[in-house]
Amino acid sequence: MTVLLQLQAVSKHYGALKAVDNVNVAVDDGEALAVIGPNGAGKTTLFNLITGDAAATTGRVEFDGSDMTARRAFDTTHAVIDFYRECFGRNSVDDAGMTVMSSIHYGVRYDNAFWNGSQMTYGDGDGRVFTDFTRSDDVIGHELTHGVTQFTAGLDYSDEPGALNESVSDVFGAIFHQWRRKQTVAQADWLVGPDVLGPVAVEKGYTCLRDLAAPGSRHCLSPQPSHYRDYLPQGDPHENSGIPNHAFYLAATTIGGQAWEKAGKVWYAALTSDKAQPSTNFGDFASLTRATAKSLFPRDTNVYRGVDEAWTRVGIPDPDIAV
Ligand SMILES: [Zn+2]
Repeated sequence: MTVLLQLQAVSKHYGALKAVDNVNVAVDDGEALAVIGPNGAGKTTLFNLITGDAAATTGRVEFDGSDMTARRAFDTTHAVIDFYRECFGRNSVDDAGMTVMSSIHYGVRYDNAFWNGSQMTYGDGDGRVFTDFTRSDDVIGHELTHGVTQFTAGLDYSDEPGALNESVSDVFGAIFHQWRRKQTVAQADWLVGPDVLGPVAVEKGYTCLRDLAAPGSRHCLSPQPSHYRDYLPQGDPHENSGIPNHAFYLAATTIGGQAWEKAGKVWYAALTSDKAQPSTNFGDFASLTRATAKSLFPRDTNVYRGVDEAWTRVGIPDPDIAV
């Protein structure tokens, strides 16, 4: 399969996202191209990020290859697609080989990154609290996983389904980060976005946006609850996601090994199950993972035990077991 990837980068000279020239380039596996522009003079720049060579295209083309954000966004996006294919047999975000687009240098000093329903967008950060959002590869894994969720469970973006939506993005972003480095669950740092923090945040002692191992820790820029008794009614999805995040951390570290081998497969099977719906809440998702742990690893009871205990420890016990 050929993964079609294209970067549509928006010139920093524009104050906001604007449509760029339609310069469409088919990219073969292993190639890396970025389309940047048009700039103020109406010139479109095409980068071949690997060789620096010219590639066939329509439109006016000029080579540079100096944009590190474009390189990072492209390389990491390609790696996320590889990760989903190798670990879970998934063919791109939609499982049908969709082209993955990214806009970089979005806005002016924009402090976020997001999946807009059809593509990725990254801000450069304000340079104080945040830096370039392409710097942490788990952030790129997080955003693309919003696309995967959109094409599978389609989780709503409020209340428990919203928090689950955010959580599965943190979980697969973390697994992707570990997979790229071939880390075990014990070697992993379990931090979300450590490399997007700017000097002001670092000076204040923050080391990450969120931490799956310790969601409420003071080193998190956005501390979260890690137990269901502390669930925040009407809370932002990025807050309550700490509860299922911590459940995954507990499951993966109890099971041991590498997160994508067992715990990740259980979470992926739950997310992509026909039973996962937009309204799926924490209890529903916990039940799905308990069931997929049993069906995927019928002889490895350690997997079911790790998953079951993890949810129980964050306050979501198996409803079928009387306590
Ligand atoms: Zn998100």
